[in-house]
Amino acid sequence: MPDDRDLPRPLHPRTRLTHAGRAGTRAHGFVNPPLTRGSTVLHESCADRRAAGQRGLDQYLIYGVCGTPTHWALEDAVAEIEGGTRCQIVSSGLAAVTTALLAYLRAGEHCLMPDSVYGPSRRFCGMLESHYGIHTTYYDPALGDAGIAALMRPHTRVVFVESPGSHTFEMQDVAAIARAAHAGGAKVLMDNTWGIQFFQPFRHGVDASIQALTKYVGGHSDVLLGSITTNSDEDWERVRQTALILGQYASPDDCWLALRGVRTLAVRLDAQMAAGLRVAAWLRERPEVSEVLHPALPGARGHDIWRRDYTGACSLFGVVLRPDYTVEAMHRMIDGLTLFGIGASWGGYESLVLPTTGTLTRTAGTGDFGGPAMRLHIGLEDVDDLIADLDAGFAILRAG
Ligand SMILES: *Cc1c(COP(=O)(O)O)cnc(C)c1O
Repeated sequence: MPDDRDLPRPLHPRTRLTHAGRAGTRAHGFVNPPLTRGSTVLHESCADRRAAGQRGLDQYLIYGVCGTPTHWALEDAVAEIEGGTRCQIVSSGLAAVTTALLAYLRAGEHCLMPDSVYGPSRRFCGMLESHYGIHTTYYDPALGDAGIAALMRPHTRVVFVESPGSHTFEMQDVAAIARAAHAGGAKVLMDNTWGIQFFQPFRHGVDASIQALTKYVGGHSDVLLGSITTNSDEDWERVRQTALILGQYASPDDCWLALRGVRTLAVRLDAQMAAGLRVAAWLRERPEVSEVLHPALPGARGHDIWRRDYTGACSLFGVVLRPDYTVEAMHRMIDGLTLFGIGASWGGYESLVLPTTGTLTRTAGTGDFGGPAMRLHIGLEDVDDLIADLDAGFAILRAG
């Protein structure tokens, strides 16, 4: 069994995912790397301990908070998924966002955030402003290079992208935005949770890519983890040093569970993409629906960018109802669904629904699609059962 780093190239992504992070296999003979727990690492001598302390940027045993072979196995696998060189695992997807922003921004500097950004990321930018004097400008996610260039200030250091927005599904032209950002001396940070294995951020100019591994990588709604992946030594140094300074840490047990998710990620995503598109196409034909916000659906908003940049889609998308239905009627419909759980997060094996209207904070005038909107996550249930459940839900909606 070769070390995954020795595998011949080119191999298709799903082959690489069955091997990524399994270097530990050699030592024990088992298929999977062992779960390693520990805080204290014992060193042979004072000189060895001092030498270990100099290796903080490497996968090297120093102290538990600096990582274990279990963390490294997941880091190698996520770097493989993202097409980057190095990866830092942190405690949650949100922690990946906050750690990355802190790695690149200093007091008095400026950040550009899409109006469609994940709500808790926006809240953190509010704290950066009030506590540290780091100002954020929210921009329309539809802006291209000229629009971004016009918003750049001399001290803009970060342009953040999240494509598509995880509640309203606006696609962003990441390569165009990255050109304007780099021309103005800023780094591009991306929340690539929706794109997961279907968008290769570093081919589009992203400098640091963030994943909420909580979603499809975890895949079973029982793990919280995040990752920041980089593709250059300079970016790796910033991200890694910041994570160490902040004491960012994730449980090795959770990393080990996430590694199980990695092995089945491609087949789950295949099945969920197909199921999501079937439900989305069915919804679009419904008289109660004015628009389906699913970038992979032909003719949908953002489809051109999706077709150009993505090799697939996950199963999270939005549904906008006709404006004559009230938000209260939509809530009754949602409450009446039996196979869709009402809950935060997504990417597990089970279907979920959340109202979108009334839950968003927007300051750049985006996010209104004319009628009450909700977000669906399609799981691994039989699609016919999901469609029957939604059909019964529409009867409740029509009853008012
Ligand atoms: C869920 C989510 C996060 C945060 O992940 P957690 O692990 O729940 O903290 C960040 N970004 C996006 C787009 C998400 O959907």
